[in-house]
Amino acid sequence: MRKIWMLLLTLILAVGLVTGCTAEVAATDVEAVENEIVNIYTDRHYDSDDALYELFTEETGIKVNVVKGKSDELIERLKNEGEDTEADMIVLADVGRLQRSKDLDLLQSAESTIIDENVPENLRDDENYWVALTKRARVLVYSKDRVDSSELSSYQALTEEKWNGKILVRTSDNIYNQSLVSSFVELYGQEATEDWISGLVANFAREPKGNDRDQAKAIAAGEGDIAIMNTYYLGLMLNSSDSEEVKVAESVGVFFPNQDVDGTHVNVSGAGVVKYADHVDNAVKLIEFLTSESAQRSYSEANYEYPVNPMVEPSELLKSWGTFKEQPIKMSSIGKNVEDVLKIMIQNGWK
Ligand code: FE
Repeated sequence: MRKIWMLLLTLILAVGLVTGCTAEVAATDVEAVENEIVNIYTDRHYDSDDALYELFTEETGIKVNVVKGKSDELIERLKNEGEDTEADMIVLADVGRLQRSKDLDLLQSAESTIIDENVPENLRDDENYWVALTKRARVLVYSKDRVDSSELSSYQALTEEKWNGKILVRTSDNIYNQSLVSSFVELYGQEATEDWISGLVANFAREPKGNDRDQAKAIAAGEGDIAIMNTYYLGLMLNSSDSEEVKVAESVGVFFPNQDVDGTHVNVSGAGVVKYADHVDNAVKLIEFLTSESAQRSYSEANYEYPVNPMVEPSELLKSWGTFKEQPIKMSSIGKNVEDVLKIMIQNGWK
């Protein structure tokens, strides 16, 4: 009798276990299907980025839904959506914008040993609220006809008398310029930075206008001789389907300033996991993928940006421009100053 009871009990337990397990597996399956997405907001408008997202989906099965927009609009949208946002991750060009998203409490800290391995510490937020995906150098671009590269040295030397009426750069409301000036405040202090701005402004070829590409075009048109601009725009112009752009890009040279002193100004585009993300793990996986060697190679070869992953060499075109020393500065320290520098730029005449 006792044996029968034991048998019955074992049977009941076994059935319970099996059904319990089945229910659990089914629940996990449903969750897995629902969770295999990551929603991103991005201000980067490059086909090569879309190709990377597709590759990520192929490798992981995680679908990437992309919302493209202007940086300020995307940040504003995240702010307004608050807890209801669908976004899991935001991608922004310029450390100033990444830092602003952190300051507005729109991001969360994302810990990952893979990201830590892929990206050096100085290109990540101190608390891992954002991480750089690409680097861009803001260099001097000069007319090969009218300027000998031996005449060039530093950003500071652009204030010399001989460059009067020769300097081209876009407006002070542009974040790339704000980050450049912010790095100056960090490295040289506010007074020296203000002196530099007023000296630079005194040598402007024209009132600041247009985007980075337009500065190179103005050199080709003879409006000025030296422009401050990001290198990847030259890469894009050299490989443009517009033959005029190719001609412009071929007429100018790239010079990495401040090599004898501290280094050339470098900025980043980067990503952060959104504070109210529903798919945190997938967002982290995507950042791990985007900082991996294969993705980093693609950023450099297809969009002419510098890899953040030190295991990846820059593309052939970037290598042809030479290697260079970067400003000895933490990316996050640039982002912190950026809000205040516009004021001193305007006060010193940079329109
Ligand atoms: Fe850009």
